[in-house]
Amino acid sequence: MLPGVDDEPLVTRMRPFGETIFAEMSRLAAETGSVNLGQGFPDTDGPSSLLEAAARHIREGVNQYPPGPGRPELRSAVADDRKRRYGIDLDPDTEVYITVGATGGIASAVLGLIEAGDEVVVFEPMYDSYAAVIALAGGVRRSVTLRPDAGAGGRFTFDPAELRAAVGPRTRMIIVNTPHNPTGTVFTRDELAAVAEVCRDNDLIALTDEVYEHLLFDGAEHHPLATLPGMAERTLAVSSVGKTFSVTAWKTGWVMGPEPLVRAARTVNQFLTFTANGALQLAVADALRGEGAWVQRQRDALQAKRDRLCAGLRSAGLEVLRPQGTYFVITDIRALGYSDGIELARSLPRTAGVAAVPAQVLYDNPEEGRHLVRFAFCKRDDVLDTAVERLVAAFGS
Ligand code: PMP
Ligand code: GLN
Repeated sequence: MLPGVDDEPLVTRMRPFGETIFAEMSRLAAETGSVNLGQGFPDTDGPSSLLEAAARHIREGVNQYPPGPGRPELRSAVADDRKRRYGIDLDPDTEVYITVGATGGIASAVLGLIEAGDEVVVFEPMYDSYAAVIALAGGVRRSVTLRPDAGAGGRFTFDPAELRAAVGPRTRMIIVNTPHNPTGTVFTRDELAAVAEVCRDNDLIALTDEVYEHLLFDGAEHHPLATLPGMAERTLAVSSVGKTFSVTAWKTGWVMGPEPLVRAARTVNQFLTFTANGALQLAVADALRGEGAWVQRQRDALQAKRDRLCAGLRSAGLEVLRPQGTYFVITDIRALGYSDGIELARSLPRTAGVAAVPAQVLYDNPEEGRHLVRFAFCKRDDVLDTAVERLVAAFGS
């Protein structure tokens, strides 16, 4: 036993959180030699100018602490990008702050803005770090369930009445992730208007997670919540480079919004990581300004991959809930006679040689997602085809 601690040294508020599902499934995939369609990361590189710029900056000596808020070159590139694409005005000195990935930004924002006992509304299924940082802050989650609508392809959406009912006197924040992981829903302006109304009526802070803002299909458009009436002053937006430029290891993100909200995240972040990588920030700044065409090509390629994997999963007997964005697709496993996604996802690497992620673990109400399993399609076509062949063989369709 360690001195001064009980058998379990982990603080009680983190005890419900074990190894993340993404780490577990990637480990299982590696152990079994499976095709890994679980954890979302591409198997091809981002633009070569980006990679070469990072190497050059490192060789040329950009190897010491950058300024705490991030390199000014990246902060101004982020502000310019936000202005050009969405018409949002940001002061790069006070309203943009660079973090270690979006994950670092989300953690700093929640820890800086949520008092113990405050409630935070989240849409489930939810990206796993939200639950953990809300717990670290001593906050309380109130979940609103996204469910497939009745249309072809089953687009996940929410009931505005359920959203309103989730808000109470202790509610301080709502977290909105669009394009949404894991469902692939891109919130429409109408859906965002319903969220905005609830925020304004109840004086809530909105924390938006926009890391998939570029990964949109079939002409879907991303609307930052901050562009809706009355929302700029209460929205802290988070994005990052990992998905946009296929460099998930780079962990370079940013928070954007009114100075008091950015300052709250910044105050915390100074003591979490102090600052983030310098050379990569310089490279990302150039890519945000110069690699728009690469992003467009990537989006087109991903749309084709979505179609390829959706068709393949259907041919293996799964029901596919078609995404409008991100690089994930949710399947309903009941079409194959299964009912428990965790059981299936844990056995699939051994039985089929394919890894996926059970959506159930991303819910506060696990029954809502018991039958849902997520597959990632940000992989080479031959890798997707191998996965599908293996699933077809395993399920015998
Ligand atoms: N939010 C969502 C919805 C994600 O899917 C991810 C991907 N890991 C992140 C945040 C984290 O982004 P980053 O790698 O920049 O920390
Ligand atoms: N965002 C990726 C996913 O949802 C990876 C997350 C992670 O490994 N923390 O799969």
